[in-house]
Amino acid sequence: MFPLLSVRTVKQLALCAILLVMPIRSPVLANRARSFISSSLADQPQVRTALDWLSNNLKWIDDTQVRLTEIPAPSFREEKRAEAVRDILATEGLTIHTDKIGNVIGELPGSDEREVVVLAAHLDTVFPAGTEIKVRRDGGRLIAPGISDNGTGLAGLIAVARALQAARIKPRRTILFAANVGEEGEGNLRGMRALIDEYRSKLRGVIVLDGSGTDHVTTKALASRRLEVLITGPGGHSWSDFGMPNPINALVRASVRFINTKVPAAPRTTFNLGQIEGGTSVNSIPYEAKLKVDLRSENEDEISRLESALRECVAAGVKDEMDNARERNRGKLEWKINQIGSRPGGELPSDSPLLASLRAADEYVGNQSRVERSSTDANIPLSIGIDAIALGAGGSGGGAHSLQEWYEPAGRDMGLKRVLLTLLGVAGLAPEKGPA
Ligand SMILES: [Zn+2]
Repeated sequence: MFPLLSVRTVKQLALCAILLVMPIRSPVLANRARSFISSSLADQPQVRTALDWLSNNLKWIDDTQVRLTEIPAPSFREEKRAEAVRDILATEGLTIHTDKIGNVIGELPGSDEREVVVLAAHLDTVFPAGTEIKVRRDGGRLIAPGISDNGTGLAGLIAVARALQAARIKPRRTILFAANVGEEGEGNLRGMRALIDEYRSKLRGVIVLDGSGTDHVTTKALASRRLEVLITGPGGHSWSDFGMPNPINALVRASVRFINTKVPAAPRTTFNLGQIEGGTSVNSIPYEAKLKVDLRSENEDEISRLESALRECVAAGVKDEMDNARERNRGKLEWKINQIGSRPGGELPSDSPLLASLRAADEYVGNQSRVERSSTDANIPLSIGIDAIALGAGGSGGGAHSLQEWYEPAGRDMGLKRVLLTLLGVAGLAPEKGPA
């Protein structure tokens, strides 16, 4: 039996317990987990060999990155780059296959094949077909569209696979090295969705390599929704049909209303009018106008609120245009909004073994990284409760999604060691066989 205590005393005791436990327990436990994982792993001679392989093959890794970056891979047209990755990954020991939507998957069987860990990097870029992609070198810097996002991730994926092969490491859980399609824009994470569908019941962790750097770990998935506004009308001649309602006018009226929408700073919520299209010539009243809008928030309710606001603004913009048209009876405007993408939110629990493994790896390589919320392939596993993180694959980069995108490989080996140790921390090493 418990002694009788007043509610107030119980509350005070509970508060004391929390205060005592909070600052002391978490770091101590976390530290213990860290040093245990990092030292035991990195002490293994085979793991040493794998880590050394990374330091000794930096030139090859740079060259691989340049070669892959120069193969165009807009979302939905990743095949050529996928083929090149497949060729490089096809080394002894990895079973390679390409799934039905184009993901290239190299399998390193574990001693326990019922459990799987995925290391993934997206193949696709935001740059449309026809974009000139020739890597320029400027001092230590590589410059080209997609060089960092996701040339670095792909090079990292391949390097870690090679390093494990070179060291003949047999993991406990099966490791899948996946170069996946459809991460960017309207790819809508379709490659990762397919991977998760396929391996869901066996998956014990997903590590996504996206871009460069070692300064962050994405453990929180930023929810987003992408919408396309379409306004249509009969269209006509700019002179003889003047006064007829114009879909571009309506879209502009709607847009001006929408961009005045107030969004909260916390939870951080953003919108972007990202692409606008329509019309056939300068002297024609267009028959259609389109607008693509990206909505993001730390809270999914805010996204729904923004979508409602967008609908109201489009309805009002179309009405304004119709009401102001001189020849109102000469053609009615229609509008609709289609969802062209949706990325669910989610969050890695702070006591996840995957995060402990990353922290241990950070400690081993002497790195510090901050937790970040972002929209990556990790959104899909995180949204259904599968442990996942996204990391940069080392070095440094900038100008992502621009034609001036750059990458500097200096320090890449530290980033790759961090990835390799995190991966092995989750996958584990196969138990050593005793003498027969
Ligand atoms: Zn990316």
